[in-house]
Amino acid sequence: MSLEKIKTSRKSPKRLRSSIKKDAIHPALYNRLKLPWSCDDCSHFDHKNESCTLGYNAAHHRKSQQKFEYEMSGQFALCRFQEID
Ligand code: SF4
Repeated sequence: MSLEKIKTSRKSPKRLRSSIKKDAIHPALYNRLKLPWSCDDCSHFDHKNESCTLGYNAAHHRKSQQKFEYEMSGQFALCRFQEID
């Protein structure tokens, strides 16, 4: 694609990486059930270094980030590798 065509195109450029998948949680369930769905509750979370011992980016799944995203959009990212002891 030529530079001129890119400048005049109305479409936004294709993302290099897809964004993280977020799940919608029904508000009644979110408010009633206090489920352990953040890194802070996970067995793989290193509280001292605030990081995931499996090497995943824990920033998306921290309790404060999930709460912020839920209040803004009704959705947040759930980690598929979370384990609870
Ligand atoms: S496995 Fe998932 S939920 Fe657990 S600490 Fe790592 S990123 Fe967080």
